Amino acid sequence: MLELTGITKTFAGKMAVQVGHLTARRGTTLILIGASGSGKSTLLRLMVGLLRPDRGSVRLDGTEVSPSSAGELRRRIGYVIQDGGLFPHLTARGNVSLMARHLRWPGERVENRLAELVELTRFPPDGLDRYPVQLSGGQRQRVSLMRALMLDPDVLCLDEPLGALDPLIRSDLQEDLRRIFRTLGKTVVLVTHDLSEARYFADRVVLLHEGSVVQEGVFDDLIQRPSDPFVTRFVQAQRLGAPEAEA
Ligand code: ADP
Ligand code: MG
Repeated sequence: MLELTGITKTFAGKMAVQVGHLTARRGTTLILIGASGSGKSTLLRLMVGLLRPDRGSVRLDGTEVSPSSAGELRRRIGYVIQDGGLFPHLTARGNVSLMARHLRWPGERVENRLAELVELTRFPPDGLDRYPVQLSGGQRQRVSLMRALMLDPDVLCLDEPLGALDPLIRSDLQEDLRRIFRTLGKTVVLVTHDLSEARYFADRVVLLHEGSVVQEGVFDDLIQRPSDPFVTRFVQAQRLGAPEAEA
């Protein structure tokens, strides 16, 4: 379980995130949703230990995520960002296996794990020797996902992983992601600004506005039991602006 308590994070004196208490429960998918600038990415970076809070703590199964534990914990938390964040000078295989090689896994173990991941993510095996620029957007995100899963982390944090993909590719990868989350039983925290995506993945949803949690609950709570007029505005805006949110 990933648990945040009494978190504040400012940038140059400006509050970016302020969260009293938030937990991602083991084996479930937590969605962080909100408009651009609402603090979703900052909150996720705090969770994976890439940012330190000004106040408060982030704990994974009771161990505080801090500079001294970050190395160990980073192996237990996989992280995927919107554009994939792949190293352009490494092939897909090189990107996925980087951490395992750094940890001096034997070659055979690396290859076995790669074979498992290729099957799990439905990545074309002959794509492993291509560089990111030689892959499609959807394939690059599959590589990014394989890289995040390589060390078999307990927690998977994904920051708008489907945001840059066109609709058909996006829907394919959505289905695969949900299947993978369920099959592996990982604790997942996924950032999106899209309500239909939130509904598709969510066990629980956290709606952020200006760095604070406006509502937390199951998806239907946002629609049927909005805790604040902002929740209704957010939902209405997406329905008017994006008809596919109704689908
Ligand atoms: P979201 O992911 O929801 O779009 P972010 O977490 O990226 O929002 O940003 C939240 C707020 O924090 C924004 O006002 C943004 O400008 C600010 N912010 C984020 N990262 C930094 C940074 N590294 N330096 C300064 N301000 C930042
Ligand atoms: Mg963001």
